[in-house]
Amino acid sequence: MKKEYYEVLGVSRTATKDEIKKAYRKLALQFHPDKNPDNKAAEEHFKEVNEAYEVLSNDDKRRRYDQFGHAGVGSSAASGGGQYGGGASDLNDIFSAFNDMFTGGKSRGGGSPFGFEEVFGGGGSRRGRPSSGIPGTDLKIRLKLTLEEIAKGVEKTLKIKKQISCLECNGSGSKSGATENCQTCHGTGEVRQASKTMFGQFVNIAACPTCGGDGRIIKDRCTSCYGEGIKLGEVTVKVTVPSGVEDGNYLTLRGQGNAGPRGGAAGDLLVVIEEVPHELFSRHGDDVVYSLAVSFPDLVLGTKVEVPTLDGAVKLTIPPSTQPETMLRIAGHGIGHLRGSSRGDQYVKVNVYVPKDLSHQDKELLKEMKKSSGISPMAHNDKDSKGFFEKARDIFS
Ligand SMILES: [Zn+2]
Ligand SMILES: [Zn+2]
Repeated sequence: MKKEYYEVLGVSRTATKDEIKKAYRKLALQFHPDKNPDNKAAEEHFKEVNEAYEVLSNDDKRRRYDQFGHAGVGSSAASGGGQYGGGASDLNDIFSAFNDMFTGGKSRGGGSPFGFEEVFGGGGSRRGRPSSGIPGTDLKIRLKLTLEEIAKGVEKTLKIKKQISCLECNGSGSKSGATENCQTCHGTGEVRQASKTMFGQFVNIAACPTCGGDGRIIKDRCTSCYGEGIKLGEVTVKVTVPSGVEDGNYLTLRGQGNAGPRGGAAGDLLVVIEEVPHELFSRHGDDVVYSLAVSFPDLVLGTKVEVPTLDGAVKLTIPPSTQPETMLRIAGHGIGHLRGSSRGDQYVKVNVYVPKDLSHQDKELLKEMKKSSGISPMAHNDKDSKGFFEKARDIFS
């Protein structure tokens, strides 16, 4: 059963926008994951609060919510947890929201307190129709990261080919900067096309073909960019990737996409994270697992070994009578959590090494060993049918 949004924020149904903003700010700070590391309940609450604010701070959504309840607003924004879980999620949204919140900085979005308009509002209305020019398109690039880079976070410098503003004409497309209104659309940038169908007449609104939607015609075209105001160029972009990102996560760099023709606002640059599989470790959330083969005598008698971690080799004690499939934990050598400063753990899955080629002498030794009743399986009944991580927890709890 989903909680009432007003209840979540602790405000009345007649609360003003300011009251909602205030209540939200207080709760968001209180339940912020950075202040409640590894606290699932706080995280859930934080999501609820964000979801409630997203709806109640938006006049249109609030009206629909008042009228139809959760069904009226789809309730899709954060309910599935997808925003913070794996798969495609815009990290930038999460982080820009957080940063704005803690620096108390002015949001680029304008009216909202922490830039949430920008965060949740989606792309459509963000740039709107600019006063001049045609908006540039978004760019998407893939960024391959190793597990080591993901474990601690990394700063990358990327070379990107994209449309950049023409230097000759300052992006205007005109040598002298002179323009005139487009005759076809009379400066509106749009044309209406009526079409008759058996259901009646429909009017389509489309970008004007003469001016490309700009509303202006360039006089005295710039010869360098042929009047477009943009040219293909290469730029370097610095990206700071936080620790704990997953395959498919992406960062949005606002305004770093293609420049817009004739002075239009630039699009965004989406940096999609691609995790390169590690040859030694497999990843399970923020934990990593390493498989280690140990000889039968070492398993029985116990030993000390060196195992690789994401931070270099560390010493590990294999206790006497360690069973195959045992998970030994090396705390704090996993992946850094996306939020907060702590890290996951490394698990070492211990397996018995069974040699393939043995000398005659070794075989004789084993035959000798076999004669001892102490090493043959007794009537142990293995009741252990638990899962992977449950087993590990039992061992260390
Ligand atoms: Zn036109
Ligand atoms: Zn130019």
